[in-house]
Amino acid sequence: MDFRRTERAQLIADLVTLGDLTDPRVARAMERAPRHWFLPDPSEPLAYIDAPLSIGWGQTISQPAIVAQMTTALELNGGERVLEIGTGSGWQAAVLSSLCAEVYTVERIAALGRRARDTLSKHGFANVHVRIGDGFEGWREHAPFDRIILTAAPRETPRALYDQLAEGGILIAPVGEGEQVLVRDRKVGGAIQRDELAAVVFVPMLGGVAA
Ligand code: SAM
Repeated sequence: MDFRRTERAQLIADLVTLGDLTDPRVARAMERAPRHWFLPDPSEPLAYIDAPLSIGWGQTISQPAIVAQMTTALELNGGERVLEIGTGSGWQAAVLSSLCAEVYTVERIAALGRRARDTLSKHGFANVHVRIGDGFEGWREHAPFDRIILTAAPRETPRALYDQLAEGGILIAPVGEGEQVLVRDRKVGGAIQRDELAAVVFVPMLGGVAA
């Protein structure tokens, strides 16, 4: 018996029961991206509890309920090009990978970015592209993006990311210092329309690249 598969199915069933996982396509995407693949040894046994966990370098892999909510809020149909800021372990990017056409993900901590790139490649997530760089700049060469997701919190959404969002696109981000709010911004007629989704706690978005 695949014990990890049973644990994974139980976590997904619990998220559905609690109302955190409402889209069956997102549930399937989470099944296809086993969270334990993305965790370093000390956190790996805890992969299927609904909590953020340490991935080293003072950073965390996001809580499954939050990944489910943010992924659902992106309203993906399968053909989109998605930019993620904050690769971390690579797990959120792997969840996105079966729900859209291409995932471009940027990480400022070089060692984390390299590890995520190796993990994603080893497990065949071939449409995920990892760049080590400062997410405040986005990824200009591949813009515009149909969707943008931030998994670290800036004080306010960086201008460059709005510039790289396609018309009709959606950007999901935790914003704020101290108290953070998860927002969904839509670009309509060149202007941004904002919904506030929930109070959240994310690591801060920091500028520059770290070795
Ligand atoms: N999505 C990740 C996952 O699935 O594991 C979780 C990301 S963790 C909560 C936030 C990540 O954002 C950290 O790895 C952090 O180094 C990164 N980060 C913070 N500021 C950044 C920036 N300016 N550019 C790129 N990455 C940044």
